[in-house]
Amino acid sequence: NYSSSILIHNEKDKLLGGLLASGFDEVSCISRLQSHTFRKVSPHKPSQYLISKLRDYEELHGKCGPDTRAYKRNLKHLQSKKYIGAAMCKYIVWDPSNGLGNQMISIVSAFLYAILTHRVLLVRFGTDLNDLFCEPFLNSTWVLPKNTPFWNERRVETYQTMLKKDKANSNPKEALPSTLFLNLQHTLDDPEKLFHCDHSQDLLRNIPLLILQSDQYFVPSLFMNPSFNLEINKMFPEKDTIFHHLARYLFHPSNEAWGLISRFYQTYLAEADERIGLQIRVFSPNTTPMQAIMDLVLNCTISNKLLPELDTKNSVSYSPNKTLKAVLVASLYPEYGESLMAMYLDRPSISGELIGVYQPSHEEKQKFHDNMHNMKAWTEMYLLSLSDVLVTTSLSTFGYVAQGLGGLKPWLLYKLISNDTHFPACERDFSFEPCNHIPPKHYCNGKAIKDYASSFPILRECIDYSNGVKLV
Ligand code: GDP
Repeated sequence: NYSSSILIHNEKDKLLGGLLASGFDEVSCISRLQSHTFRKVSPHKPSQYLISKLRDYEELHGKCGPDTRAYKRNLKHLQSKKYIGAAMCKYIVWDPSNGLGNQMISIVSAFLYAILTHRVLLVRFGTDLNDLFCEPFLNSTWVLPKNTPFWNERRVETYQTMLKKDKANSNPKEALPSTLFLNLQHTLDDPEKLFHCDHSQDLLRNIPLLILQSDQYFVPSLFMNPSFNLEINKMFPEKDTIFHHLARYLFHPSNEAWGLISRFYQTYLAEADERIGLQIRVFSPNTTPMQAIMDLVLNCTISNKLLPELDTKNSVSYSPNKTLKAVLVASLYPEYGESLMAMYLDRPSISGELIGVYQPSHEEKQKFHDNMHNMKAWTEMYLLSLSDVLVTTSLSTFGYVAQGLGGLKPWLLYKLISNDTHFPACERDFSFEPCNHIPPKHYCNGKAIKDYASSFPILRECIDYSNGVKLV
């Protein structure tokens, strides 16, 4: 009947078309079941294959995750450096580096890699990441327990030395360690990681515990491996929705974060006819004057009709159009929100539209090891993702998280680093996937990759960074 079909429809929305597992305790993570009421339904549906892979992953995590007998048994074997073969659960521990946006895009990459390689993903969350997110996996935790011997493990063999040994050794598998530190960070002295290549993957497959450090969205490089490519294609018939689905699956604001998000949204944004997210990231605050950035923001938003021009002749608007647009400004600096707000309060807009400007915080600088600072950053990324129209700053992973969660193709503001102007001030992105800033530069046979798109039809140069690639 009619009412039960509404109920079924809502249940499906709540679980994002089957992306999320049912059975969670609603009270411990209110956002998981409430967020769909704040968002438009995503036009991108998860494939049945993705859903089945997620349910398989959850089963594996339930069997091997912390607090299981298998975990305790495996840990003992790892400490004694004994490898007991296929019976053992395999793990990938994600290790944080850089800001929250970088961390979130690399967690998503690590999760996809875990699914592809049947590993259990554990995250090494310090106190600065405490209580930002709900647990993503039913009846289990993804947080690496603080008492594990691997919490501060830095003496284990590194991926780079494994590759070196492999070159010298005719039978490298005999000498493989049980734990390996896999640093995929970009450094100038080791130009190529060859991580995506079959040969590296063959070696890594035999190592039960990988400790991964990366601040990148390395999913595009996984596509360069034929067998990963096959699987990911089946999981994601729409390639540009990988981050969108996996981030919505993994990152549910904790009750504390959800309180901040939902109160702000309901107080300032919910009633507006249109919501515009404006992320102003200043990468070189000492060399870029605020006015140059403000000019860039106004050029972008006004020339693309995201915001209306000011009426410089009349002090009262005679237009019957009283549409209310809410602009959410995310920035470390208070001046951007303040001056935009003053601008639209001082004069009417030509269109008659009313523009409310709200900036939740202004932390002044990026802070490390600070839980409340991260909580604010997470709150703002999430609020930006609830926009109808999104403007972000080129190269900012903070913006990537917002666009990906929201499924929004952003207007990318040019990255100013001096007192300059730039035309165009911004450009519309072609997808909402994050950009991989440091893709592999060589094929697995050592030849340089000249043009990504001709070898890998699903990859394009990023608009905001031509050395980077992203999925289309
Ligand atoms: P990226 O450096 O722009 O790629 O983004 P990251 O998120 O990796 O690092 C920037 C960090 O600076 C964030 O995680 C925050 O800690 C802080 N930050 C930068 N911009 C903002 C902002 O608009 N709002 C808040 N609350 N924090 C910000």
